[in-house]
Amino acid sequence: MPELPEVETSRRGIEPWILDQVISRVIVRDRRLRWPVAKGVERKLKGQAVESVDRRAKYLLIRTANGTIILHLGMTGSVFIVDHGAPAGIHDHIDFELDSGKVLRFRDPRRFGSFHLSKDPLAHPLLSKLGPEPLASGFTGEYLWRKSRGRKVSIKQFIMNAQVVVGVGNIYASESLFLAGINPKRAAGRTARHRYDALADAIKDILDRAIKAGGTTLRDFYGGDGEPGYFKQQLEVYDREGEHCRTCNTLIKAFVQGQRSTYYCKSCQT
Ligand SMILES: [Zn+2]
Repeated sequence: MPELPEVETSRRGIEPWILDQVISRVIVRDRRLRWPVAKGVERKLKGQAVESVDRRAKYLLIRTANGTIILHLGMTGSVFIVDHGAPAGIHDHIDFELDSGKVLRFRDPRRFGSFHLSKDPLAHPLLSKLGPEPLASGFTGEYLWRKSRGRKVSIKQFIMNAQVVVGVGNIYASESLFLAGINPKRAAGRTARHRYDALADAIKDILDRAIKAGGTTLRDFYGGDGEPGYFKQQLEVYDREGEHCRTCNTLIKAFVQGQRSTYYCKSCQT
């Protein structure tokens, strides 16, 4: 599933091809995404110039004077650039044709992705309740500590809550708790301030590294096989149950927490 680093990589991959370009035509081949694609978006976007290409949480925000395209990649979605006339496959649900002769294509085999057009995207119900961006300066240990007071939920579930902070998916939660040396079962409300400082730094560090790893795939957004590759960074605990911790040699343990698998080292994480 595309996580925040993959979405940011997608943003960087498509931006040079679509920024300042004029949308000449929008083709929606299948409106049945996670939410049905609204009628009339084709007409509203025709002739609009792309003014900016941003990201909020895992949403791509493509701004035009007539509204902002809010794209979510869902479980299996991807965006990439092809030439006009490139044959569409059965999972290529939306094309944004540009005056430049290129096309921004949205592919999504399982159709859990979505496409909305909004005049005020940050006030859109999908985005309005989201917590801060983890890489923004406002996201700090101080913030997490304050937000966590009185919360009985485990610290792992706490940081995976998008109303607390966006973009910390299961892999990144496990990895950042390892890096910060925090046991994932610890109660959020009973975790000390200095540990939240370490955790906020770890989250930024892990996501930053993943985005940098994604930089190696940027050229794949055009001219490849239309499937920008996802990248793997070296993981310390995630998906390593029964393997040795690279720091202390203890066997990595796994258990289910909030219906998600959690991986940790019981020696390194207290
Ligand atoms: Zn260890």
